[in-house]
Amino acid sequence: MVDYIGVADVTRLIQSVGPGEFILRLADEILADYRRWSEFEKSARLASHSPVGVIELMPTSDGRLFSFKYVNGHPKNTAAGLLTVTAFGVLADVATGYPLLLSELTVTTALRTAAMSALAARLLARPDSRSMALIGNGAQSEFQAIAFHRMLGIRELRLYDVDAGATAKLERNLHAIAELGDLRVVRTGSAAEACRGADIVTTVTADKRNAVILTPPMVAPGMHLNAVGGDCPGKTELHADVLRMPEARVIVEYEPQSRIEGEIQQMPPDFPVTEFAAVASGTAPGRTSARDITIFDSVGFALEDFSALRFLYTLLEERRIERRPIDLVPRLEDPKDLFGGTLGAGTPMRRLRKSA
Ligand code: NAD
Repeated sequence: MVDYIGVADVTRLIQSVGPGEFILRLADEILADYRRWSEFEKSARLASHSPVGVIELMPTSDGRLFSFKYVNGHPKNTAAGLLTVTAFGVLADVATGYPLLLSELTVTTALRTAAMSALAARLLARPDSRSMALIGNGAQSEFQAIAFHRMLGIRELRLYDVDAGATAKLERNLHAIAELGDLRVVRTGSAAEACRGADIVTTVTADKRNAVILTPPMVAPGMHLNAVGGDCPGKTELHADVLRMPEARVIVEYEPQSRIEGEIQQMPPDFPVTEFAAVASGTAPGRTSARDITIFDSVGFALEDFSALRFLYTLLEERRIERRPIDLVPRLEDPKDLFGGTLGAGTPMRRLRKSA
């Protein structure tokens, strides 16, 4: 039987574990997988673009398990009462090709993106970082706040969004999260004001264009930039001159995909970058001086969803999530008799037709 994990299952789990603890444990899973980078099959994701958004498939495998995620990005959706990003995914057994798990990944993507952001920042930001600008206060933002509070010790958040309603929503939610009791939240009137004095700047905006959220005057030596929202061709957040700043060091997830989708799509093909896996395994340095401007050019890589799906599957096996098998693959007495075992005499379908 194939197991199913829905939105209600994930939210129940997060409520019982606590979002910070869940993100921390997921970050450990992601780090362990990045440290065995060479074992993974890697490819840039398959993207179907339209004028208003993108639908993507993200596959990977470590030779034992295979996973893929379906994810969309439609920045105009919120105006119609819909999420910008939704996702679901499958974990499968390589030995048989059978799917093991079909899971919601909308909430899980927000958790894994936050976990990955904070993981990168733990290796790249100055260890004394305490203040973070959070620009873009939509669906992903609370998760980013929780991850940086828990994993980096961020104690001041400087919020900015072009939509004041989104900032008010974020502020309300942050005040209601028990584990963020010691977090100081500051509303600001511009991206430049949000960046002032911040050690880390997270940009997590949604707009399908080459936006210019950060320009060099907003970026000070020693900062860590966590650029999350630019993740598609023609959809970026940093002015190209930020990438060219002499102190800048750019870290990407999977270089071939990031050249297409990341902030570095604005740069020539030989622009130097470091893959996160090399930093994670210690073969490349993270921050080399207190003046480095480290830039995590995040787009989201399939390995992070693999880690998340496997983590959810482990929790299911440990009975931390209620088992909910679904009827996705036929179970047959004779695997060569698909017809007889599903449509033949005595099968539920056949009985139904007879009684009709
Ligand atoms: P969302 O639509 O819920 O929120 C985006 C927010 O950005 C909105 O509140 C909007 O008003 C704000 N915004 C737009 N332009 C702005 C600007 N110029 N200045 C300040 N704020 C601005 O979207 P979301 O689900 O929070 O996702 C945010 C972004 O993160 C999207 O672009 C999405 O594609 C991306 N994303 C990346 C990853 C990754 O792994 N890198 C994962 C998930 C989502």
